[in-house]
Amino acid sequence: MSGGAEVDGGRATAETGRVRVAAGGPAPAKGRVALVTGASSGIGAATAAALARRGYRVVVQGRDERTLAEVATKVAGVPVCADLSRAREVERLAERALEVGGGRVDILVNNAGVGWMGAFDAMPTETVGQLLAVDLAAPIALTRALVPGMRERGFGRVVFVGSIAGRLGVGGEAVYAGAKAGLDCFAESIRGELRGTGVAVSVVVPGVVATPFFERRGEPYTRRWPRPVPAGRVADAVVRCVEGGAAEAYVPRWLRVPVVTRAVAPGVYRWLAGRFG
Ligand code: NAP
Repeated sequence: MSGGAEVDGGRATAETGRVRVAAGGPAPAKGRVALVTGASSGIGAATAAALARRGYRVVVQGRDERTLAEVATKVAGVPVCADLSRAREVERLAERALEVGGGRVDILVNNAGVGWMGAFDAMPTETVGQLLAVDLAAPIALTRALVPGMRERGFGRVVFVGSIAGRLGVGGEAVYAGAKAGLDCFAESIRGELRGTGVAVSVVVPGVVATPFFERRGEPYTRRWPRPVPAGRVADAVVRCVEGGAAEAYVPRWLRVPVVTRAVAPGVYRWLAGRFG
């Protein structure tokens, strides 16, 4: 990252704390084209709305035509239906987004994702493949398809919606956590490759968010703590990453504490995790 200013779009933020502006500086929204995957629900829908409010032109992806059309109408965006578990549809999504953007997509928000809960050896092989395709392979393929154009133009933002599960590991969500950890490491790696090109790479790390995610994975969230945060808070963190180029943003911010504890004192972390879950 260039410049080295300790700001996020001109200001430090509650969620990101001290962050650095990436090459290219804060992004003026006007005329910029953003592709948001998983925009038919939860965090993606909130992100599409937040970006639209800031003046970005939004391409929204989901699978259900009618739901997606409703979201697109609300954000004055363009709907593109695609099943991200199918490689060909992922390619077509990138092509269509480029068509809509007149040859460019400036911002890619890799948000679509699915979970699965249960003992890892009870997870059906087909479900493992689908989860890895949607949560890991599709974001990599979309990034692969859209980053070269961003690099050529000297400006771009790629934001991955990761998960605290991918930073800590979670029993009962091993494949999901592994996919998100892979995404994290992919992001870190390409951030290095793209240094100085004007393309910034961010990972937003949510904890528990109030969306249909848990019902969809077949296991509702029943813990009393931590309490789910509204999807809008994650969306705001995504927008801040887009505008400031921060490398990462935890939502809520205190989630950084267990991650740092695990890194510097893994024995202590595991003891605490075993005791308090
Ligand atoms: P959500 O409300 O269930 O939304 C998931 C989105 O992903 C939907 O738009 C869905 O589209 C899309 N999607 C799922 N499978 C797809 C497929 N095969 N092809 C194309 N699109 C697909 O969940 P959310 O909470 O907003 O999740 C968004 C992201 O946040 C995910 O990456 C998730 O892992 C991450 N996250 C969530 C939480 C949480 O507590 N909710 C915590 C940490 C991280 P359809 O409407 O077509 O199914």
